[in-house]
Amino acid sequence: MDEFVTLPTVALVGNPNVGKSTVFNALTGLKQHTGNWTGKTVDSAVGTVSYRGDRFRLVDLPGTYSLSPASPEEEVTRDFLYHASPDAVVVVADATCLERNLALVLQVQAVTNSVILCINLLDEAQKKSISIDLEGLSKTLGIPVVGTSARDGCGLCDLMREVKTVCSLPNAKPSTKTQTDPADFTRHAEEIYKTCVTQSPSRRANLDRTVDRLLTSKYTGIPLMVLFLGVILWLTVVGANYPSALLSHLFTALEPKFAALLTALHLPQIVVDALSAGMFRTTGWVVAVMLPPMAIFFPLFTLLEDVGYLPRIAFNLDHCFHCARAHGKQALTMCMGFGCNACGVVGCRIIDSPRERMIAILTNVFVPCNGRFPTLITLITVFFAGSNALFSSFLLILLIVFAVLITFLVSYFLSNTVLRGMPSSFVLELPPYRRPQIGKVLVRSLLDRTLIILWRAITVAAPFGLILWIFANVRVGDTSILLHLANFLDPFGHLIGLSGVILVGFLLGFPANEIVLPIILMCYLAGSGLSEYESMSSLHTILVQNGWTFSTALCTILFSLCHFPCATTCLTIWKETKSIRWTLLSILLPTLVGITLCLTVSTLFRLFT
Ligand code: GDP
Repeated sequence: MDEFVTLPTVALVGNPNVGKSTVFNALTGLKQHTGNWTGKTVDSAVGTVSYRGDRFRLVDLPGTYSLSPASPEEEVTRDFLYHASPDAVVVVADATCLERNLALVLQVQAVTNSVILCINLLDEAQKKSISIDLEGLSKTLGIPVVGTSARDGCGLCDLMREVKTVCSLPNAKPSTKTQTDPADFTRHAEEIYKTCVTQSPSRRANLDRTVDRLLTSKYTGIPLMVLFLGVILWLTVVGANYPSALLSHLFTALEPKFAALLTALHLPQIVVDALSAGMFRTTGWVVAVMLPPMAIFFPLFTLLEDVGYLPRIAFNLDHCFHCARAHGKQALTMCMGFGCNACGVVGCRIIDSPRERMIAILTNVFVPCNGRFPTLITLITVFFAGSNALFSSFLLILLIVFAVLITFLVSYFLSNTVLRGMPSSFVLELPPYRRPQIGKVLVRSLLDRTLIILWRAITVAAPFGLILWIFANVRVGDTSILLHLANFLDPFGHLIGLSGVILVGFLLGFPANEIVLPIILMCYLAGSGLSEYESMSSLHTILVQNGWTFSTALCTILFSLCHFPCATTCLTIWKETKSIRWTLLSILLPTLVGITLCLTVSTLFRLFT
């Protein structure tokens, strides 16, 4: 540890999205999350790198546009450069938009004279017919300049050679240059850019411009966005069916074997039942229902992220968020919420203004997460769309559009009540389109997202399965605790178009949304563990026999869309806000919206049917 502290320190600085994390990961072997959009590196990461017998401490600082702090990230970077006095500062710049990046180089040079300029994304620049005179740039700036394509590892050895040289110089000390007006830096950057960079018109640049015009135009931007979402959902709905059924059969087949194993260990029968029909079955259900859609949805979503499409979504929806007095970047946090609301809540850190960040946190749960998709899809299929996957996807899109509208409305409501204020302005960088790396996208989305979320769900589902089994099997009088609870909640449930059993499903589904429907079925079938339905038609029969109508199905869908966040998300909200008050509001707000919606719909059904 001591040795780590005494190693020469090398800071990585740069605008967001220039490949800093990629350089950092390639040099240190660590795995910072990389993605093609601004603002995901909020904290700084530290690692070590060895080069020709020497070791260095590498610090990846948050992306920054300037050293005059306008956001927490910029402040972290500036403070580090001023106070930690690194032995070398590598400014990573994007070769495809060097001019803006050069302004930061000049600012860093005003703070320290141990600067190295790393011009990354040279491969992309080449495709766009941009050529950069690296030697000329080095002479003009008076610092070493290295060209890299970090994604392919090109140029990184040259970079480390320069790092070693700069770190060994005795004059690695704060610059003595006097502070200059920020506008001077910019002007100066422009002059340097003109002398060292030439660009001939290329087909690729024209294509990029045309695509961008389509994806961000007033008329085609939002329809194309809905279309992409539709395709992703359709692929998820259609693709998840078969592997889900397969996994479900696998777990059903394994359960008796698991029970036999426990019996062989001479455990009492009641313990065997609780562990197999309770814990094992619940966990199996969660894996079978959650894994396939996540394994399809996350890679597709990460692909869009890697191509550079997500910031365009924020751009398209910016006006709507502005009308709701919220922050345009909220669109990005909502995108993350589709995967998992807890991830979406953490992602709200990209919003600088505390007021707008809180709005984004409080409304993230209105976006249906992966855990709720199975319930939504199943109910849509069983009651409204039948086996037509295309129609199911269409209804699902309608539902998502509705969820987005609710988000706008609630954001507007919050902006005019507890979180009053005007929306802040911000710079949203639209990064250049980049060819995604399919292999890395798959690995990242499976390892970083799918497996982590699945593991979290399993750790919740396993102990909870046991509790659920106890609730279903311990009887008070003639009835199980589960049914007692359902009977108690029945009057209120019916008032809002649901039932006591459905409310029990949502309440006991608090640990993980995906077990809501299984709990409801378990109550109906009065089984000892979670129930697996054989087919959609048998599910329809079970539900109808228990009093479900179109109105019940619609209200359950709406309540699934708008109710308290799951346990993991609540915990995350509390961790992010450090406030019980806001956490309670995040629970109450969607629940009240859900109750209001259900009450309205069921009353309308009662009046008109
Ligand atoms: P950061 O925000 O500066 O940390 O940027 P990242 O390291 O997250 O990179 C942003 C995007 O650029 C990711 O999609 C990377 O895969 C991609 N990228 C990084 N370096 C290169 C490169 O040299 N060439 C190409 N084509 N893409 C790169």
